[in-house]
Amino acid sequence: MMLAPYFAFGNLTRQLRAALMLRKATGWRHFGSWVRTSSLRSIPVSAGAVGMGCIGYGRHAVWEVTEACNLRCRHCHVSSTGAGPDELTTREGKAFVDQLASMDAFRMLVYSGGEPLVRKDIDELLAHSARRGLVNVIATNGTLIDAARAKELKRLGVRGIAVGFDSTDPSIHNEIRRSPTAFDRAMRGIEACKAAGMVVQINFTAMRENLATLPDVIRFCHEIRADIMLCYQLVPMGRGSAIVDSALSAEETRELVDTVRRMQRDAVTIVEPVAAPQYWPHLLGRDHTGEKPPMSGDAFHGCAAGWGLLYVKPNGNVWPCPFVPISGGSVRDESLRDIWERSDIFVKLRDRSQLQGKCGECENKEICGGCRGKAYAASGDPLAEDPACYLHHTGKPAYKAEFISGKEREGGCEREACPAEQGTLGCGPNALEQRCGPSAQVT
Ligand code: SF4
Ligand code: SF4
Repeated sequence: MMLAPYFAFGNLTRQLRAALMLRKATGWRHFGSWVRTSSLRSIPVSAGAVGMGCIGYGRHAVWEVTEACNLRCRHCHVSSTGAGPDELTTREGKAFVDQLASMDAFRMLVYSGGEPLVRKDIDELLAHSARRGLVNVIATNGTLIDAARAKELKRLGVRGIAVGFDSTDPSIHNEIRRSPTAFDRAMRGIEACKAAGMVVQINFTAMRENLATLPDVIRFCHEIRADIMLCYQLVPMGRGSAIVDSALSAEETRELVDTVRRMQRDAVTIVEPVAAPQYWPHLLGRDHTGEKPPMSGDAFHGCAAGWGLLYVKPNGNVWPCPFVPISGGSVRDESLRDIWERSDIFVKLRDRSQLQGKCGECENKEICGGCRGKAYAASGDPLAEDPACYLHHTGKPAYKAEFISGKEREGGCEREACPAEQGTLGCGPNALEQRCGPSAQVT
């Protein structure tokens, strides 16, 4: 049995340093209160973290255990309805967990979906990963959790809960979630998990329609003493691709990061944008050209794709991020360690010297790196520049229909006829087929 190195000295000092930098950059008045109330409780949930960046504590794994869901939210990035035809079985899921637990880089596993709590064997899986020394977190719509279920989940090793929350106005939340009772049931879930002593994270998805309500949601997080708030923004994928016009423009992305930074000062909750890695250079005052303050060293890393996240789809395919639909391989037939260490997509995203366009030239690329999901959605090239970076772009990114379906790019090139004749550019199965240029990707 592997013991989770919650208290690995290097990780803890990096995280403390990141929190101190956050305090310095934002004037965070509640830092002391956060240390007293949240920091110790958060240590298991941040087990294995190597600093701060997009989508919470990196490194961690997320397993989308099912496509099934009891809701039909408008912004869902996986178009959840019923269970997929080829989801990992209980036995396959446990084998994946065993592989993950054997990798020192990962100590925390997020169960996501769809709605993970509708999967019939979820308790068995949670118990298994807890036995293997992993910290369990559940990303949920919160509607299926009451006091008894929260206590049960805690007993199954769930240390943190991330609840989707779209507005403090119940009617807006219910409209986005397409359920008249979604808000009340989510609130019941949040309260039950807090009472059970879990770390509570609020996941907000910013769209044009609700961006103005962001300050209210941050105040709400502070009032309920949520530990973390992740401020997602619509990356049009899955069902969310039907509302591509709701995606934020470059100027609205700037407004979002500015609001988060400004309001962090008075919130006990740590608030982080997702899919807006410009936040990290913004925090350090590196927005503008000319004289730039120094980098953050090893504390801020920006985009997590490649280094901070393993995202396992229901069928076992491993993506670098929920918004980068490119598989590094399947846990059904490849070693997870090999996928993480050696697959083309992970290796390439880890190496920011390979970034293209404005991101490739940018002095901030080590602490930002641009959103690889937005780059892919706009161009089909996950290494292209981030089209929503407000330092270099204005207006709404031109996301392309062929890349925002949420459909995974199969290994190898999608061109039916290779302009350079098959294989002469070195492209093969599972290769990232950038060699003939992004405009030539899809015929
Ligand atoms: S150009 Fe790319 S790396 Fe630089 S700040 Fe913009 S998104 Fe980040
Ligand atoms: S691709 Fe975008 S959403 Fe994914 S980790 Fe990077 S910045 Fe975040």
